[in-house]
Amino acid sequence: MKVEELTKHAKNFSQPFRISNGKHFRLKDIDPRDTLDLNAEDKPRAKEALTTGIAALAELQDMLYAQDRWSLLLIFQAMDAAGKDGAIKHVMSGVNPQGCEVYSFKAPSNEDLDHDYMWRCMKSLPERGRIGIFNRSYYEETLVVRVHPEILAAQKLPASLVTKNIWKERAAHINDIEHYLTRNGTVIRKFFLHVSKKEQKRRFLERLENPEKNWKFSAGDVQERNHWNAYMAAYEDVIRRTSTKDAPWYVVPADNKWFTHVVVAAAVIDALMSLGLRYPAVSKEKTKQLKAAKKALLGSNKSRD
Ligand code: ATP
Ligand code: MG
Repeated sequence: MKVEELTKHAKNFSQPFRISNGKHFRLKDIDPRDTLDLNAEDKPRAKEALTTGIAALAELQDMLYAQDRWSLLLIFQAMDAAGKDGAIKHVMSGVNPQGCEVYSFKAPSNEDLDHDYMWRCMKSLPERGRIGIFNRSYYEETLVVRVHPEILAAQKLPASLVTKNIWKERAAHINDIEHYLTRNGTVIRKFFLHVSKKEQKRRFLERLENPEKNWKFSAGDVQERNHWNAYMAAYEDVIRRTSTKDAPWYVVPADNKWFTHVVVAAAVIDALMSLGLRYPAVSKEKTKQLKAAKKALLGSNKSRD
């Protein structure tokens, strides 16, 4: 696929779900079942496009690594069984593992709780030239922690600092930090995989019925369904507050996994294409060295070693 064509496809599939300004964002405007104008018959074609996209991604990542200037941080947030793990696995399948790291953020440890909430995430940011993936992130601090006041109570914050403004303040901290990181060469893209409550139920039942999927099931996940509306309100609020031009959210329909993967891959390709990546130019001095090395190697070939 030509570069222009790839750029166009990447934009077509990702742009409709990109939120660069959250002011008017409403979660209900994105249907978890949406597949744009593609239907079930287009699935094989979409999968083929994904394969092409994944190959392109591998090449872009190689240049990112060689150039060693930018880094890419991809943040994945979602309700359980929305397909975070699958999206990460599929989209990054062609990427050189040396240039990519995935961090999964679970409930914080005692050591984590002895620090500010950004601490554990800041330690795990990608180095220049690399792609870092956060499977959950500091956004949990405005989601699960907001839905469950007992988690906030266990955070050891000085009581006078816990006010009703805390969620607004946390969103503001996040914007400041993301702006700072962006101005230091970390490109940030955030994905909310938006699954419907109905599809989540279907996937949980599948986990219960299929012995090979039993291990994925956790009884606590079913209880979290009781807080569905509170989670949706928290997601909507934080997406409204933290969608920026520099660090946009993609609210990705997640009832059809094949479509989710296409949109995520398109958004990642779009982000990397926007950097105008190129392999580093070779200096005159280095060209000389390369020529000399080639000569030396060919010379030694003649002497049969
Ligand atoms: P899976 O698809 O395997 O269930 P997962 O990302 O849901 O993947 P879990 O092992 O279920 O992984 O653990 C993640 C749990 O940790 C989630 O319930 C999440 O809300 C919680 N968690 C993450 N960050 C925080 C945080 N800062 N404070 C409290 N809980 C958190
Ligand atoms: Mg879980």
